[in-house]
Amino acid sequence: MKAEITVDVKQCARCGKDHEKVVFKKLTQPGPRHSHWAPCPTNQEPIMMRVVEMDTAQTKADSTTGAERLEIKSFVFSKE
Ligand SMILES: [Zn+2]
Repeated sequence: MKAEITVDVKQCARCGKDHEKVVFKKLTQPGPRHSHWAPCPTNQEPIMMRVVEMDTAQTKADSTTGAERLEIKSFVFSKE
C-alpha cells in the first residue's frame, strides 16, 4: 500500500466542508478502522480514513492483462 494517497474529501468530519486533493499519510500502526490520516485544511485536526483494497484474486486477474489498474477499491472516512 502506498504511504501517501491523495483523496478528495466530502463533508469533512472535522469541519463539514469539502476538500480537494488532500494528502493522506499511512498510520505507523494502522488499526482495524483507520489506515490513513490527514490534517483538515481548515483547522488542522486529524481526518481518519480507511483504504479498502481490491481482493487478491481481482488484483491477480488485472495483472495478467498487463493493464495498469488501481489497487484501491474505495475509501471509508471515519465520522469520529
Ligand atoms: Zn475539514
